[in-house]
Amino acid sequence: MRKEFREAIIEEVDDSRDLPEGSIDIRMEEEVGDVPHDRGDDDEDAILDDELLSGPDIDDFEETNSTIGQMVNRYDPMCDHNENMFSLGMRFESHEQFKNAVRKYAVINGFNIFWPRSQKKRMEAKCASGCGWRLYGSWVQAEKTFVIKRVGSLHSCNRSLTNRQATSTWLAREYMPKIRARLTYSATEMQTDARERFALILNKKKCYRAIWTALSHIRGPIGKQYDMLRSYLEELKRVSKNGTFMMEVNPATKVFERFYVGFDELKNGFLAGCRRVIGLDGCFLKTGLRGMLLCAIGRDGNNQMFPIAWAIVEVESEASWTWFLTRD
Ligand SMILES: [Zn+2]
Repeated sequence: MRKEFREAIIEEVDDSRDLPEGSIDIRMEEEVGDVPHDRGDDDEDAILDDELLSGPDIDDFEETNSTIGQMVNRYDPMCDHNENMFSLGMRFESHEQFKNAVRKYAVINGFNIFWPRSQKKRMEAKCASGCGWRLYGSWVQAEKTFVIKRVGSLHSCNRSLTNRQATSTWLAREYMPKIRARLTYSATEMQTDARERFALILNKKKCYRAIWTALSHIRGPIGKQYDMLRSYLEELKRVSKNGTFMMEVNPATKVFERFYVGFDELKNGFLAGCRRVIGLDGCFLKTGLRGMLLCAIGRDGNNQMFPIAWAIVEVESEASWTWFLTRD
C-alpha cells in the first residue's frame, strides 16, 4: 500500500477521535452491522432515551402507518435536503440510502452529526453539538423499506465550516459526475466548489483522496491497466510501423519495469520543424504503483513544447536515462 494512502486511512480514523463519549464509530459499526436480518427486534429500542424524542413510539407508528399506507412519504435523492426534510414515516430504499441522505443533509446544512448506531436494520443519528436533533430509523421487513420512526427537535446549534460527514468516499460519490466529465478536475477546484456550494472547508488531502477514489472507480484499478500494456504495445506497433516501442519486464520476477514510446512521426516532425535543442526531464508518477516518466521535448516554430519521445522507468537513475536516450 502506498504511503499517502496509508496516511489517508489513519487520518480518516483520526477524524472520529472527537466523537462524544459513548458513541460508536460508523466504520467499525458497519462491519458489525452486517448481521443477518433475522436477529431479534425486541431489546434494543429500550435503550433509546424516550424523553428526548418527540412523536409517537414505534408501536404507535406501525398502527398509524397501516391506515395511511397510500400516503407514504418517499425520500427523493434529488430533493434540496433542507433543514426540515426528514419526517416521521419517511421511506428509504435501504439503510445505505438513509445514511447517504443524512450525510448530504448534514453537509448541506452544516451540521456535525454522529451515528450512535449504524446497522442494516437500525440506524440512529444525533447532533454532535449535543442539541436535540436526532433521527432513528429501522428496516420494515414486511415492506422491505427503511423507515424513519423517531424524529427529534430541529437543530439549535450553529453552522459548522468543517464536517465529519464529508468523508472522501462521500465526496467521491458526490463529485463523480464532475470528475467523469473532466478527468483533470483538481483538488483545488473541489475545495473551491465545496466552499461555494456547501460553505464547507475541505482539507486538500481529503480532496486528493476523493478524486483518487472517483478516478479508480471510473477507470478501474491502475494495476489492471498495467495488465493491458502488452496489447497496447502491439497496437502502438500497428499504428506506427517505423516507431520504436518497447516494454521491459524484470526477467527474474516478471514485474513490469520500463516502457518506451517513440513515434516515428514525432521524430520526423522534430527534425523537420523544430530548433535543434532537446530538453530532457523526468517526473514522478503519482499513482499507487509509482515509477518515473522521462521525456525528451523539443521547441517548435512557435516556441511551444513538442514531445519527441517518452518512457516510464522504475526510477530516475543514470542507467534508466542511458536506456531512454539509447533507444532509437
Ligand atoms: Zn444540532
